[in-house]
Amino acid sequence: MKPFRYVRAYSVEEATAAHAGRPSSRYLGGGTNLVDLMKLGVERPGRLIDVSRLPLDAVEELPDGSVRAGATVRNSDLAAHPLVRDRYPVLAQALLAGASGQLRNVATTGGNLLQRTRCPYFQDLAKPCNKREPGSGCGARDGVHRDHAILGHSRLCIATHPSDMAVALAALGAQVELHGVRGRRTLPVAEFHRLPGDRPDLDTEIAPGELITGVLLPPSTAGLPSAYRKARDRASYAFALASVAVVLDVEDSAVRQVRIAFGGLAHRPWRAREAERALLGEPPSDEAFLRAVDAELCAAEPLRDNAFKVRLARNLTCDVLRRLADSSPAS
Ligand code: SF4
Repeated sequence: MKPFRYVRAYSVEEATAAHAGRPSSRYLGGGTNLVDLMKLGVERPGRLIDVSRLPLDAVEELPDGSVRAGATVRNSDLAAHPLVRDRYPVLAQALLAGASGQLRNVATTGGNLLQRTRCPYFQDLAKPCNKREPGSGCGARDGVHRDHAILGHSRLCIATHPSDMAVALAALGAQVELHGVRGRRTLPVAEFHRLPGDRPDLDTEIAPGELITGVLLPPSTAGLPSAYRKARDRASYAFALASVAVVLDVEDSAVRQVRIAFGGLAHRPWRAREAERALLGEPPSDEAFLRAVDAELCAAEPLRDNAFKVRLARNLTCDVLRRLADSSPAS
């Protein structure tokens, strides 16, 4: 492993100052992805800035009714928090569907958003990969790509984003809070991760040196019926072949609000806006659900070995919509 400097920060300002002007620096939270990538030689930071002791470990309600989860809140603590379990069950379910108990006890909210694809070619220095080494090619496109993207991929990269938590946050309309040397800003989670396009080396819209300090869960989706479903090759400790997060509000036998996001299908959590548009105002029925989901998935461009994901995503999503509609007191 390449030698690196280790710095521990005790405030956000100290952390961002330690990063400023040093592009090879990386923030270290739980380390559950970054340290693995360092051992593989995929990440070779010159300096690690330990942000795990920053005072960002609270989950709290804000005066406007939103809920703020600090960036160093551990995934297991976020999943178990009463504000999350009561108001945003889709988030608790997504967190518990991710990784293993041991990893969730260490992994942080900020780190979860920044985890990198588990494409095996990305993790293998002997293989070509445009994300790891721009211009080297994409080993997966003509190689093993059963787990890869069917939506929004590019000629240069067909990787998927691995987070379950981010899919629930995208459906909930959550915001990412960022701090850099120029101050604070927020971005919708659904716009935080990028599609690969011609820059697959960039996973997110984060600026150099910016630090995730928290996520904000909006009052508009608090308490609405919501659920997360994930299909994978093993019952636990496996990434999604396809997953879906749904928030559904049915009133007077019509869909008043619906938010759908897919995981395991694209380079970022995929907000299914066509499906949402097709369902708004409709009576909740199997036919309406199928029509809406197909309106979204007609944009899919499956690869040689992953066409099964289209049907899998369709069935998962229709099933979650049906269950939420059936359990709605006003349906
Ligand atoms: Fe690299 Fe993306 Fe191709 Fe995987 S899919 S080998 S991450 S360029």
